[in-house]
Order: sequence, then C-alpha cells, then structure tokens
Amino acid sequence: MKIIHQIEKCIGCGSCVAICSENWEMRDDGKAHLINSKINKKTNSQELEVKEVGCNQEAVEICPVECIKIKNN
Ligand code: SF4
Repeated sequence: MKIIHQIEKCIGCGSCVAICSENWEMRDDGKAHLINSKINKKTNSQELEVKEVGCNQEAVEICPVECIKIKNN
C-alpha cells in the first residue's frame, strides 16, 4: 500500500509526528514530512510504499486537514 501526503495542504500542526514519529517528522519549512518518501511530481505529493500501514492509520485519522491518504495497491 501507499501512504500519500498532500504536503501543500499541511498546516504543520504536528499531530502526525506526535502519533507516528517513525514515519513523520517536522522540518524547517513548518510542515510534516513523510520520512523516506518520494515526490510525485504530477500531484506534488509525498508518497511512500509500505507493507504495513502501522501508525499511519492513526495519522490519517488525526490530521485536521485530511492531507494524509492511504491507497491500497
Ligand atoms: S497532522 Fe496533517 S496537518 Fe498536521 S502536521 Fe501532520 S500532515 Fe500536517
């Protein structure tokens, strides 16, 4: 499955980092970043292939602007 972060929508609240620090970190631009992700240039989203959704499910649920998605391949 794929974790997708629509980074332009991120308001930098830090909730995803608090709940899922193994995959998320805050950076100097004031936004959360999906660690080890690649940029999809078409959508300008960060994308990361994972085998297990893990705490990213909680990150999806806690994000106030719904900019984290999980897509089943
Ligand atoms: S929870 Fe959503 S808005 Fe908040 S830092 Fe994470 S991705 Fe950005």
